[in-house]
Amino acid sequence: MEILNANLLHPRWRVGEHLQRWRDAGGGEALAIGAGNPAAILAAVKEADLRGLGGSGFPVWRKWEAVAHAPADKDKYLVCNGNEDEPGTYKDRLLLEETPHQVIEGAVLAALAVGANRVVFYVNPDLKRSLAALDLALAQWQGSAMQEQASAALGRPMALELVPSSGHYIGGEETAALEWIEGKFPFPRGKPPYPAEYGVHGCPTLVNNVETLANVPAIVRHGAEWFRAQGTGGAGGTKLYSLSGDVLHPGVYELPMGTTLRDMIFVHGGGLLSGKPIKAVFTGGPSNTLLTPDDLDVALDFDSLRERGAALGTGAMIVVSEGTGIVKRVAEYVRFFAHSSCGQCPSCKTGTATISRLLDRIDTGQGTAADMATLETLCAMLPGSGRCHLVNGVVQLLESSFRHFRQEYRQALK
Ligand code: SF4
Repeated sequence: MEILNANLLHPRWRVGEHLQRWRDAGGGEALAIGAGNPAAILAAVKEADLRGLGGSGFPVWRKWEAVAHAPADKDKYLVCNGNEDEPGTYKDRLLLEETPHQVIEGAVLAALAVGANRVVFYVNPDLKRSLAALDLALAQWQGSAMQEQASAALGRPMALELVPSSGHYIGGEETAALEWIEGKFPFPRGKPPYPAEYGVHGCPTLVNNVETLANVPAIVRHGAEWFRAQGTGGAGGTKLYSLSGDVLHPGVYELPMGTTLRDMIFVHGGGLLSGKPIKAVFTGGPSNTLLTPDDLDVALDFDSLRERGAALGTGAMIVVSEGTGIVKRVAEYVRFFAHSSCGQCPSCKTGTATISRLLDRIDTGQGTAADMATLETLCAMLPGSGRCHLVNGVVQLLESSFRHFRQEYRQALK
C-alpha cells in the first residue's frame, strides 16, 4: 500500500486504536467546519469535482442535490455502500478496516449536506475485519460529542446504523441495497423512480460508495480547489486502485487520478511477477473492458478511459501475462456473473447462463463456429435488456475480448 497524500489511507492500525489516531491526524475537524455551515458542504463537493468512486463515475453532487431538494416531511436516508464483491476490487474494505472514523465522518457530512437523519452503513458480511472495525467505531462515535454536534447541526437526531448486506454481488446495486435494508431479498428495482425520490421505505435516499464518502472530510477541511488540483479528466482528488494478477507488488494504491497504466504496473506494481510480457489488463473490474499493451500510456481516469471505449469502474486492474488463456479467464469471470444474476430478468438469467455454458464449451475444445455465432447474437441482443448493469457488463467483457483476442477464440474451436 502506497500512501500519497494520506487523505485516504493511514498506516495499518489495530482495531480499537482508530479513534485516537484519527483524532490526532485532524479527524473531526471537517465535522466542526461542516456543522457550522451544512449548505457549504454540497457546494464544496460540487466545486471539487468529486465523482462516484464505486464504479459509476457520475458527478456526486447531482444525487446529493436531488436528495437535498426532496421534501423533508419524513425520514431521509443516506446509505454508505460497502458491499464490495467485484473480483479484483478490495479498496472499500481497506478503508473500513484502516480508517472507519473517516468513513463515518464523510457519511455524516454527506447526511448534513442533504438533510438525512438516518445513516445506514451497508457492509458485506464476508468482510469480517471491516465489520469489526466499523462496529467498534460506530459505538465510539455514538457516545461522543461529535454525534451530538451532528444532530444539533441537522436540527433533529441523526441515527447511525450498521446493516450487514446479504453478501450477494448483486446486493451492491444501489436499489438492491434499498430492498435488503427494508428486509427483502436484494432484487434490483426498476428505475425510475430513483432512490433520491423513492428510496428506503419510500423515503428520499442517497446511496454513495465507501470510497466516495471517505473523500468528503478532506474536501471540507482543505477546500475544493486543493482537492480538484489532485485530479484530472473532470474528476478531482486521488483514486484507490486495486492492482492484482501477475504483478510483483499487488495491493491498493492511492494515486493521483489519471496515473498511467504503465506507471501503475511498472512503477508502483514493480512489473510482472512472471517476467513475461503483458497480454491484457482487466480494467475497472472484470465487468468492463480489456486493455492491451497498446493502452499502457492511457491515463486511468473516467474520461480518458471512456474515450477508448473502456471504463475506470471500481479502479481494479487485473494484469495477465502472455501464456494466460483469455478464453479461460473470460469464461471464469462470466461464470461468476452468471451465478450472481438475481434471475428476475429472463434475458439476463438465460443470457448469462448461455454465454457461460458456450464459453466453457469453447474453452474445453468442444465449441463450434455456431457457438461463436450464438455468442455474437447474444452480444447484440442483450445490452439494455436488464434492470441493472450486470448483463451489460458481461457483454462488454465478452465483446472486448472478441475485439482483441478473436484469434484465440478461433483456435479454441473444435
Ligand atoms: Fe437481476 Fe440480471 Fe436483471 Fe440485474 S439484469 S436485475 S442481475 S436479472
